[in-house]
Amino acid sequence: MSKENLKFIDARINQLKEDGVYRKLPVNEGPCDNLITLNNKKVINLSSNNYLGLANHPRVKDAAKKAVDEYGAGAGSVRTIVGNQDLLEKLEALLAEFKEEEAVMLFQSGLNCNIGTIQAIADKGDLIISDALNHASIIDGVRLSKADKAVYKHNDMDDLKRILEEKRSDYNNVLIITDAVFSMDGDLAPLDDIVSIAKSYNALTYVDDAHGSGVLGKSGRGTIDHFGLHGEVDFIVGTLSKAIGVVGGYVATKHNVKEWLLHRARPLLFSTALPPAATAATIESVKMLMESESHTKKLWDNAKYFKEGLKDLGFDIGHSQTPITPVMIGEASKTMEFSKALLEEGVFVSGIVFPTVPKGTGRCRAMISASHTKENLDEAIEAFEKVGKSLGVI
Ligand SMILES: *Cc1c(COP(=O)(O)O)cnc(C)c1O
Repeated sequence: MSKENLKFIDARINQLKEDGVYRKLPVNEGPCDNLITLNNKKVINLSSNNYLGLANHPRVKDAAKKAVDEYGAGAGSVRTIVGNQDLLEKLEALLAEFKEEEAVMLFQSGLNCNIGTIQAIADKGDLIISDALNHASIIDGVRLSKADKAVYKHNDMDDLKRILEEKRSDYNNVLIITDAVFSMDGDLAPLDDIVSIAKSYNALTYVDDAHGSGVLGKSGRGTIDHFGLHGEVDFIVGTLSKAIGVVGGYVATKHNVKEWLLHRARPLLFSTALPPAATAATIESVKMLMESESHTKKLWDNAKYFKEGLKDLGFDIGHSQTPITPVMIGEASKTMEFSKALLEEGVFVSGIVFPTVPKGTGRCRAMISASHTKENLDEAIEAFEKVGKSLGVI
């Protein structure tokens, strides 16, 4: 029985149930890898952001274990007091080298990084111009800043220019923010155009490369590297939780920005530093990428193979430019039915529907990883064929 004064929560939950969006969390009874044991059932995992299979890689795990012995389980404090273990400094230096940028400031997650960085750099009298499909953590960072806000239509450079034309002269700094890779469709922002537009209007650029870091560019250096724009983007956000396989976020930027963030980024000042196991594991992951392009090559080979398999069967797989593979179904209820039927066939692909994506564009979004074997992918393609035929999608 709920307490009387919390009954309003029950009403809200009932509304979720009526709207058909109530859910329970699936339970993964083991590591995140190509095969997982989800709710007691062994399935092919086509739903993680573990693009390179590093989340359960022996080298990365060994680094974490060693760090626990040497540095303990927790950092013990925020970085500005005694939490700044030398591992954190090492990781920042390594990431700056990997990203080929001047400096890197670490955060506890990508979400923390966006929230802390945007709020610290954009002030009253400034304007933030944000792509309509930017990630929730960018939206939160923008909300927390005292700057004014404007939104341009997704990837629409004419709309971006229109806003700059109208408003640039009314503001001190103008900051253009975009995801580099949009996670629902796997499409890229036209970063070359954005950088040149920003230059001509004297605006700053802020790119969130969460789905591009470890995926695009030379050995996963990211979308900035893919476009050949090193040194041209003012703030480049990355996550250590997706392709890198661990946890954490960072912004690659200039030395003075890092200095400023050390004084003003609230997640840094008010939340404990990353645990040593995570930091050391991340160092190992980044080293592996710097040593060899085999990880990203395997990812792209797998993505190409899977996408061709589905296309040959007649599925609409959208216009992704990355290993994110949205298999378009349409209706929300049919999308969820498709996902459920795939699970029965031993393949886990989450269904994504309104309000995460526009009405009528429900999709089963397959996330391909370097950890998948050809056999895993063949089996998944077969399951898609069976379910696609039985539900009349192909
Ligand atoms: C996943 C994601 C984040 C959050 O990263 P975490 O490290 O998981 O907090 C931020 N921005 C974008 C675009 C993302 O896709």
